[in-house]
Amino acid sequence: MKKLYKFRWDCGRQGTVEGIFIAEEQEVKDAVGQQVNFGEILGKHSEVYGTIDDGEITEIKVSEITVKEMEDVLGSTICGHNPLHHIQYECSRCGDTMRVDDCEWYINDNNEKICEYCATEDEKKSLKQI
Ligand SMILES: [Zn+2]
Repeated sequence: MKKLYKFRWDCGRQGTVEGIFIAEEQEVKDAVGQQVNFGEILGKHSEVYGTIDDGEITEIKVSEITVKEMEDVLGSTICGHNPLHHIQYECSRCGDTMRVDDCEWYINDNNEKICEYCATEDEKKSLKQI
């Protein structure tokens, strides 16, 4: 089920990263513990990155209808920065860190993430894509 969420990161004197967005509950649960990199959003050389911890994404309780109406009119990112769009994975083979959207990712039975450049043709067919 889709819900309305608020994200907040206090980055000390650099400022605060905030965002309000709509996402599937499961997507938000999966995001906890993941690494995100927003780039230099708080000014030159600020490079804002880290791990999403429990409690940094909180639900804003509104009705299901409100969530749907907001998404129809405003899209899934209501304002600010949507952390779900900045999640990074580290490839267990090449060690490269890339944004989730920048390439295809596969996961093997040992829970290791493999980028599309390292996965073999066989793995691409047999492994689960994430
Ligand atoms: Zn790789």
